[in-house]
Amino acid sequence: MSNTAYCGRFAPSPTGPLHAGSLLTAVASWLLARHAGGRWLVRVEDVDRDRCIAGAAEHQIATLAAFGMTSDGPVVWQSRRDGLYRAALERLLASGDAFVCGCSRAQLAHSGGIHQHCVAPPRTDGRNAVRLSVAGSGLIRFDDALQGPQSQDLAGEVGDVVLHRADGCWAYQLAVVVDDAEQGISDVVRGADLLDSTARQIWLQQRLGLATPAYLHLPLLTDGQGHKLSKSQAACPVDADHAPQLLRWIWHLLGQAEGALDGADSMPARLGLAQAHFDPQRLPQQLPPSPTMPDPL
Ligand code: GLU
Repeated sequence: MSNTAYCGRFAPSPTGPLHAGSLLTAVASWLLARHAGGRWLVRVEDVDRDRCIAGAAEHQIATLAAFGMTSDGPVVWQSRRDGLYRAALERLLASGDAFVCGCSRAQLAHSGGIHQHCVAPPRTDGRNAVRLSVAGSGLIRFDDALQGPQSQDLAGEVGDVVLHRADGCWAYQLAVVVDDAEQGISDVVRGADLLDSTARQIWLQQRLGLATPAYLHLPLLTDGQGHKLSKSQAACPVDADHAPQLLRWIWHLLGQAEGALDGADSMPARLGLAQAHFDPQRLPQQLPPSPTMPDPL
C-alpha cells in the first residue's frame, strides 16, 4: 500500500565510491521507506567543494542502481541549490537569528572552539562566516527511533552554528535542513555519526519555521579501533559485481531473518524478498566491531 506521507532519503557526499557503511545506510533507508509504503529520494551532498571528487556522485548513483535502488524523484544536487540556501540565510539574518562572524578557530580555542559570542570583529576582506545563534535554544530533545531519547544543550556543548563558511561554502547544517524541508522528507535515516548534528538541525528548523522530521540513526560500521569504517584504511569500496553477497551481508548486519533472501536468482528478486521480509523491529542499536565482509570480498 502506498503511503504518500512517508518520504525518506539517502544523501551521500561524493567524496569517493560508496563504502560498506554508506551502503548499509542506503539499504536500511530504502527498506524503511518501502516498508512504510513511502518514497525514497537520493540527494548528492556536494556543497563542500574541497572534499568532493569529480565523477564520484555518478559512480555512487550507478552503484545504488546495481542494487536495484533508484531515486523515486529526480536526484537533487546541493551544488545547484544556491538560491534556496541564500534565501534561508537572508531570512535568518533579517530576523537576527544569524550573524556575520570573523572569529577564527585559533581565536575560539580558549573556549574549546565553542562560539558563544564574537571575540573578534568581522574581517574587512570579506572572509567571514555566518553563524546561527543558539542563545535561548535551551535543551533540545528528540526521540530517535532506534537510539532512543536524546538531548543536547547547544549553547554549552556546541555553540553558535556555522551556516555559511568563511571560504564561501554552504555549511552542511544549513543545506541539509533546507533540503529536507524543501523535499518534504518525513523520515531521516542516517548513520549515528550524525546523531550529534541533529539537535542543531532541529534548532535551525525551529528558527526557520520548518517541520522537524522523524530521525533514525543507524549503528556505524567500525574497524577494530572503533573508527568509522568509511574513514579507515579498512574501508573497502562497494564492488557492484558482488551485489548479491553484499546485500546478504548487509541484511545480516541489519539483524534481519536469516535465509529470507534464499532462492532469489536476480538482484530485483533479492531486493523484492528483502522488502517483503524486512522487520524494522529487528534493527540493531549497535554493530560488532569489524564485522567480517563476505568472501570473496
Ligand atoms: N552527506 C552526509 C554523509 O554522507 C549525510 C548527511 C545526512 O544524511 O544528513 O555522511
